[in-house]
Amino acid sequence: MHSTDGRAALADRISVYLRRGDLSRLTRGHPWVFASEIDRASGEPQAGDAVDVLDPRGAPLGWGFFSPASRIAVRRLAVRPDARPFQVLARERIAASRDLRRRTCSGATCFRVVSSEADFLPGLLVDLYEDRVVFQTLTAGMDRRKDEILAAIDDALSPRVIVERNDAAVRSLEGLAPLCGVVRGTEQDARFEVDLDGVRLGVDLLTGHKGGLYLDQRVNHRLVAAHARGARVLDAFSYHGGFALHCAAAGAASVCAVEISDSAVRAAQTNVGRNGAAGVVSVVEANAFDFLKSADAAAARAATRPYDLVILDPPSFTRSRSSVGAAARGYKEIHLRACRLLGPGGRLATFCCSHHVSRDAFERIVVDAAADARRTIRRAESYRQPPDHPVLPAIPETEYLKGFLFEIVE
Ligand code: SAH
Repeated sequence: MHSTDGRAALADRISVYLRRGDLSRLTRGHPWVFASEIDRASGEPQAGDAVDVLDPRGAPLGWGFFSPASRIAVRRLAVRPDARPFQVLARERIAASRDLRRRTCSGATCFRVVSSEADFLPGLLVDLYEDRVVFQTLTAGMDRRKDEILAAIDDALSPRVIVERNDAAVRSLEGLAPLCGVVRGTEQDARFEVDLDGVRLGVDLLTGHKGGLYLDQRVNHRLVAAHARGARVLDAFSYHGGFALHCAAAGAASVCAVEISDSAVRAAQTNVGRNGAAGVVSVVEANAFDFLKSADAAAARAATRPYDLVILDPPSFTRSRSSVGAAARGYKEIHLRACRLLGPGGRLATFCCSHHVSRDAFERIVVDAAADARRTIRRAESYRQPPDHPVLPAIPETEYLKGFLFEIVE
């Protein structure tokens, strides 16, 4: 296979010419070139090849990695012609991403070091858990360059343990097979315990969601828990109990954590033990929709308000724009139930991690649900993704996590 990355090879790089049309997304800094936007190529680029992107008249629009299997045919790495070998670029960008986290996440020991497009390395995710790294290469271009990426990770972070977590479903869109394993260290090194802001959590880099934990809720765990003192808390969609355990640590009277996955329930129960919270936190294996429905029915029968703080942190109900309608019905249902379980003075902390549902649209769903439940709500706080998941305004997809704390006024 010929090298398409180095300076010497720049002249050999295949160019893709775009069709005539609106190029403003690309000229304003969005890195994706859709297959439907490509008119022709100067050769036959293979999966993962570096290609130059040219406008219909041949003016350069940067370069990126080619993915013939995907609807997103090219993900740009630079908006200008660039002759640096990928190895140099990866080293510079991963070091720059690390430095950004050192500035914006000071004190944190576990964080996302490289967040794909948001760190100008589309298709690459790198998370740091103290001295351990877990990485994902989600595009053909990144997957082919694991050696250069590992060298750059080593340079920037000198991790003791490195785990490859390449089982994300999106890899199939690129024609990439799943692959997980410990690249440095032993299988035991991939399972350990961390302290996140005073709460001890088990981590399994080989099986955990998102490569381990939901690091994107790290800051929100604390912000929501600040409202938990003395409260009866329901943490629905709890995973390993991140919100539940922070609420217990903050002095909640009781916490009920609801989670559907039996392995997540077991991990949450182990975490409860680790934190000596067995007297406060109970973990229930259930579908949160069913749990909320029967809790609502029971509360209505008994004319009680069983909770003071309800936390809703569901998975994304929609992966595409076309399923937003069905997702909205799901979001509305859980908010309607949550509102009915809370009385005046109660608080509802709620999150949406779907990029396809905007902050405004999400809030409208909650307002509709509150109205159906005959509740008046006041927005007390707004939540977002933490600074280790940066947002590039030119790439709307980089902004996905939003949340609110509402108080039930009456
Ligand atoms: N709050 C967690 C992250 C939650 S991710 C944290 O801060 O760490 C969403 C979780 O919802 C996943 O663990 C998933 O297994 C669970 N889940 C998905 N559908 C569910 C359902 N219908 N009922 C209960 N849990 C569900």
